[in-house]
Parts: sequence; C-alpha cells; structure tokens
Amino acid sequence: MAEQANERRLALVTGAARGIGRAVALELAKNGFDVAVNYNRSAEAAEVLVKDIEALGVRARPFKADVSDRAQVEALFKEVREALGPVAVLVNNAGITRDTLLMRMKLEDWDAVLSANLTSAFNCTKEALRDMSKARWGRVISISSVVGLTGNAGQANYAASKAGIIGFTKSIAREYASRGITANAVAPGFIDTSMTGALKEEVRSAITAQIPVGCIGRPEDVARAVAFFALAENSYITGQVLAVDGGMTMC
Ligand code: NAP
Repeated sequence: MAEQANERRLALVTGAARGIGRAVALELAKNGFDVAVNYNRSAEAAEVLVKDIEALGVRARPFKADVSDRAQVEALFKEVREALGPVAVLVNNAGITRDTLLMRMKLEDWDAVLSANLTSAFNCTKEALRDMSKARWGRVISISSVVGLTGNAGQANYAASKAGIIGFTKSIAREYASRGITANAVAPGFIDTSMTGALKEEVRSAITAQIPVGCIGRPEDVARAVAFFALAENSYITGQVLAVDGGMTMC
C-alpha cells in the first residue's frame, strides 16, 4: 500500500513534559511530526519542550489536561484540533505508580492508578480514533510496562493497569486494522526517570544485576521504539507489544 510521508502529521503525546514522554515528543519531532504536548502539572517543563521541538523545524503547542478525566480529554482534543489539526498519532504515555503490597493497598490507590494509566488511554484513544477514522490513517501507541507481562510484588494496581493496556491495544488493533489504523504497545523495563529515581542505590544495583545488557535504560531507548510504530512505512505491524528492557524479560 502506498504511504504518505510522516511530515505534517500531528502526534499527541500525553504526559509529554518530562521523562519518557518528553523523549518521545522529541523523537517524533525529529521524524517530522508536529507535536501536541499534553501536560498536567508540569507547565514550565512543557513550555521548554515546545521550544525545543520548534527548534527542530516542526510545530508544537502545550495543552493542559488531566487525561484521566473524560471531560478534560474532550476539551483537550477540541483545543488541539483548533490549534494544530486532527490527531494522526496518539501516544498514551501518562502514568503514575502507587506501590504497596496488596494487603495494604487502599481502593483509592487502585482507582488512582487505573484511572491515570488505563482509563486515560480509553479517554484519549476514543477521541483520537474519531480523527483517525475520518483520515483512514492512524497510529495508537501505548506505553505499557514489563510488569504488565510478568506482574510484580507491590505493584498489583500498576501491573493490572499495564496488562490492561495490552488487552486494550490488541482489541483496538483488531477493530481498526481495516481502516489503516495500527495499535501497538511498548513495554519498557527499568528506565531512568523520576518514576524510578527515588529508588535507593542498592535497589537500583540489584535491578541492574538482572538486566542482561547490564545497565538501566534511558527514555530515548523507549522513544525510538515508539517512533518505529509511528512511522508511515510500518503499516503492516499491529497488535504488538515491544519490550524495551535490555533483555530483562524475553517473553
Ligand atoms: P514520570 O517521569 O513520572 O512522568 C510521568 C508523566 O505522566 C508526567 O509527564 C506527568 O505529567 C504525566 N501524568 C501523570 N498523570 C497524568 C494525568 N492524569 N494527566 C496527564 N498527564 C499525567 O514517569 P515516566 O517514567 O516518564 O513514565 C512514563 C510512562 O512510562 C508511564 O506510563 C509509566 O508507567 C511508563 N513506564 C515507565 C517505566 C520506567 O522505568 N520509568 C517503566 C515502564 C513503564 P505532569 O508532570 O505534567 O503532571
């Protein structure tokens, strides 16, 4: 199937102001995509990122929204469409952790993580698919986690949300394949961001010892995998989960 160039297509990245989202936004910009930078609390970082993206020669704008909130997501997509046009690539990246053993986990810890990590993807994907269906072209890329594949003690809420992302992705892939829309997930292992930065040095060393390539990953490692799924030429890959984990899981 003939494919248009990636240039002038718009990518919306949720939680883009920092960490993996920031690296994803920059990598997509380097590949010629305009970028809608969603943030919730990190307004200043979002402004800085927009300038860094514009310096790469594409368009970018910051958009504030808590993506776990359906009404805010509807408003977000309205603003994005008015400012930059329809969304062609959606990256469901926003996420949080509230780690504790199940016996101590409160319902609010469960709800907060499921809302931020999984309901957010439902909210944004439903909106984005309206634009993508009209264009008969689209890419939905969601950030899962290796713990969504393996589980992890102390992360029942987080692992459930990330496993949910995988089932959600595969279902979207099946529903929308005939409309030129692919849906894929990237499952990072242990990546150096503020989400993992709070861990003590001995914990980091213990984790590193279990990574075959021998080091913790960088946000850019994840970003290149996301860009791979976003590219126009990769239209025959859908419903996949790509682990970016230095060989930690190999499953
Ligand atoms: P991070 O540095 O803590 O950044 C989290 C991002 O999510 C921030 O930009 C934050 O935005 C955004 N966010 C959280 N809740 C939001 C909401 N309700 N609405 C909008 N934005 C929201 O974490 P990270 O490591 O970059 O994680 C990014 C994604 O990768 C997450 O889905 C995470 O689960 C996943 N992941 C990370 C690792 C890892 O080792 N780091 C491993 C596997 C998977 P604001 O700052 O603007 O509020």
